[in-house]
Amino acid sequence: MRKHKFLLLLLPACIFLTSGRQANAQTPSRWKAHDMNRPRPPVVKPAAQALPVPPPADAIILFDGKDLSQWRRQDGGPAKWAVVNGYTESTKGSGYIYTRRTFGDMQLHVEWAAPLPAEGKGQGRGNSGVYLMGLYEIQVLDSYDNDTYPDGQAAAVYGQYPPLVNVCRPPGEWQSYDIFFRRPRFNPDGLLLEPGRVTVLHNGVLVQDNVKFWGFTNWLQHIPYEAHPDRLPISLQDHGNPVRYRNIWLRELPEQSEPGPANLKEEPMIVLQPQELDRYVGKYRAAPNGDIFAIYREGQKLLANFSNSAKIELVPHSTRRFSLRWTAATVTFDLGANDIPKSFTLDIGGDQRVATKVE
Ligand code: MG
Repeated sequence: MRKHKFLLLLLPACIFLTSGRQANAQTPSRWKAHDMNRPRPPVVKPAAQALPVPPPADAIILFDGKDLSQWRRQDGGPAKWAVVNGYTESTKGSGYIYTRRTFGDMQLHVEWAAPLPAEGKGQGRGNSGVYLMGLYEIQVLDSYDNDTYPDGQAAAVYGQYPPLVNVCRPPGEWQSYDIFFRRPRFNPDGLLLEPGRVTVLHNGVLVQDNVKFWGFTNWLQHIPYEAHPDRLPISLQDHGNPVRYRNIWLRELPEQSEPGPANLKEEPMIVLQPQELDRYVGKYRAAPNGDIFAIYREGQKLLANFSNSAKIELVPHSTRRFSLRWTAATVTFDLGANDIPKSFTLDIGGDQRVATKVE
């Protein structure tokens, strides 16, 4: 049932993307996975980078070159990859390694180097991978002068999205991935609310631009989303090639893109009739530099123009106090005889400006 609901969500995209050819309800891609006819991303030579990139103060260090204490085998035992000279190396037959801790949304920094001398070709040369939540692979491959299917080259979302460009460094040289990941969201029934998304910089260059995973990444097989926990381990792939990793750290990201709770409490409004609003209309000279603030009425609305600002609606909360419709600012009038304003104070961003009526 879950899968059917998800497919229904995808259906309009599928119809759009597959019009004119046989509908393929399995994938929203413009290409079948691993198609060698897919255009190759342009090759871009990366600039020199200062590596390793030191972690910021709030980073969780997953590998600092000393030991794999933060990692384990799939069965929970100690990770068996070699650790030498400040890096760890995928050791053939020792299996994928998994972080002991689990993570959801993150900014992940990884440095890696493909084996030198380069051996093998295509997917057999310097193959490994960074698996976000153990399910979504950002491909690691020696893609320096090594052709393969574009959705399987370095920095591809494996089997889904080729990188925008190929910025691979030669084998043996350290290169960086900076991965910005938002996990998929599921509702309590397991229905997909939002797909996972990823942005990737390879050697400082944008290669994945907020693309949406359409399911788990996999070789050959299309695997639609299945609900999974909000936090899962990161894993690194043992694909039988001695790929090296160092300086792995991440920053956990908050659920929403700004800190703290939302604050859109609506202050009670009052209604002022047009003839009441007209009392505020006029020009006001603002201290300290003499800017002219104009207040005028359009229909039922009182509007302001602060110097050269656009029209800004003033929402009445009392006969003295107004707020700006979209901005955290207030206008408080100093009322004289017959409730005619003499001046007002604009409170904005911690500053106060007093404007005195001139006409
Ligand atoms: Mg791989």
